[in-house]
Amino acid sequence: LCSQTTSNMIGIGVYSMDGGTEDTRGIQVGRSGRAARMVRPEHEHILQDTDRSSGRDALRNNVSAAVALADAVRSTLGPRGLDKMLVDADGSIDVTNDGVTVLEAARVEHPTARMLIQTSSAQDDVAHDGTTSAVLLTAELLVNALEWIDRGVHPAVVQSGFQQAAAWSREELNSISRDASDRILQTEVVRTSLAGKVNDSAREVLSTLAVDAAHAIATTVDEDETTCNPSDVKRVGVRGGSARDSRLIEGLLLAKKRLDQRTPDSGGAGRILLIDGGLDKRTTSIDAKIKVTDVGALQRFHDRERADLQAQVDAIAALGCDLLVVRDGVDDDAIAPLRKAGIVCYRRFERADLELLSRATGAKLIRNPIRATTDDLGDYASRSEERIDEIEHVTIIGSRNRGRTLLVRGSTETLIAEMQRGFDDAIGVACGLVEEPWIVAGGGATWIALARHLRKRAPEANGREQLAVEAYAAALESIPRILAENAGLDPLEILLATSAAQSVGDDPWLGLDLNAGSPSDMADAGVVEPVRIARQALAGATEAAISVLRIDDILWAKQDAQTPDWQTNEDED
Ligand code: ADP
Ligand code: MG
Repeated sequence: LCSQTTSNMIGIGVYSMDGGTEDTRGIQVGRSGRAARMVRPEHEHILQDTDRSSGRDALRNNVSAAVALADAVRSTLGPRGLDKMLVDADGSIDVTNDGVTVLEAARVEHPTARMLIQTSSAQDDVAHDGTTSAVLLTAELLVNALEWIDRGVHPAVVQSGFQQAAAWSREELNSISRDASDRILQTEVVRTSLAGKVNDSAREVLSTLAVDAAHAIATTVDEDETTCNPSDVKRVGVRGGSARDSRLIEGLLLAKKRLDQRTPDSGGAGRILLIDGGLDKRTTSIDAKIKVTDVGALQRFHDRERADLQAQVDAIAALGCDLLVVRDGVDDDAIAPLRKAGIVCYRRFERADLELLSRATGAKLIRNPIRATTDDLGDYASRSEERIDEIEHVTIIGSRNRGRTLLVRGSTETLIAEMQRGFDDAIGVACGLVEEPWIVAGGGATWIALARHLRKRAPEANGREQLAVEAYAAALESIPRILAENAGLDPLEILLATSAAQSVGDDPWLGLDLNAGSPSDMADAGVVEPVRIARQALAGATEAAISVLRIDDILWAKQDAQTPDWQTNEDED
């Protein structure tokens, strides 16, 4: 059996004899390059459907993937960045300048490229901006790392140098950041982050709305902690009017009308119950067979069902509930009992809206009305219905946290969607600022300042780690270089001029003013960014680069060339 396996292995050519045929150590998918390929012939079959690259080849392969991915978004960086047109498999078109949108739409198979896309998505989740920068930084770190590894520096040394550089950058970031508790300043920050994403008039509208909304939904945890969750702002798009008519509404606005038109259309403060399910005859949900033995049997069955529904309404009324919101349907037979009990009812809510109502009123989501207690009720300050553009809407203002809704107006669905996307970015940044009101300079200034700082401290690092710290510094400078490039300026000239200008007065706020084409104070130019964006980009890029550097071996499962995927699709049909 053994000899048979061996000849098979030779036949498919993945057999390696580095360790000799007598080697008994078996497979070592290890970290030490060539020596790791000591695979016992009889074990080789395990890898027979696998392509493999190891050591330097693996690293080179991974770095190329990272560079290819970065190249895909490079030209979108900055306010003068270009847009990408994304065409879906079904032909729908999206034009965007947002790095993470481009990357998430790309059908990328390379594992390293996918890792970078995850870094970019994480950046979006944490900082709501800086997604392109994070990917560009990762790729640049890897290119610079590879250069030193090719010259004989061990990857582990590069890794520890990078870690050291990241720690120093983080410290320096804190020391150069400035307070941004001021609302006007915060609006400016949000405006910078929307540069190149939406048109200028939408940018003005959205940055003001986002900062107002963020302050309205902020909750103070304790003296030095405030939380602000972008999803606490409900968004409602209504056709008609212009983007400028978009406004922030106090309370939660929902495109719903009350179930029973005979109940009042508005009212003052009261208590609210939220049912995460339906209000219906529970017996019908059981698949029962009714055997009709006499004329009255069916009637008695229906009476029992109605009594059951009445019991549920009675239980709700006994709690002192004024307003009932039901996720699913409400049985017709419940309408009259609810009205008689003085309860106004709304039905068919999205789960997310129910959760928003829960947060605004303090009501719990319950499933069974019979078992509800007064603890499950929440409080609201008012409820009112109005028609907006021919559609009935209700506004509920909570007592606990009043809730906010962004009403987006626009002449077409596309414009409304664009405004909503812009608002998503804007509110994310605004909330981040409310939680952590600290900013740094944009326009590449911060990256240049960090690079200068790292070069100053590099001699403190051990031996060859110094080289890695220098390589890290050079990677940070890629952001201002690409910004200049995308604005049609000479990257090297701009970088040198800005770095020199910063050194003169040790001023980390001097950056690239795209209009002036010369170094200027970024605070004066209004190009300012939350420190969170830079911190997350540093952390994400460093982590991704280090995990790529750790990889010494790539094992690719071979695709079955006999079965093209269109054929499998056809088979499914
Ligand atoms: P990202 O996805 O990384 O946020 P962007 O395309 O939004 O990429 O570009 C952000 C970069 O553009 C930041 O480095 C920011 O400082 C810079 N930037 C924004 N506005 C200006 C401006 N008016 N002048 C110079 N740089 C700017
Ligand atoms: Mg941005």
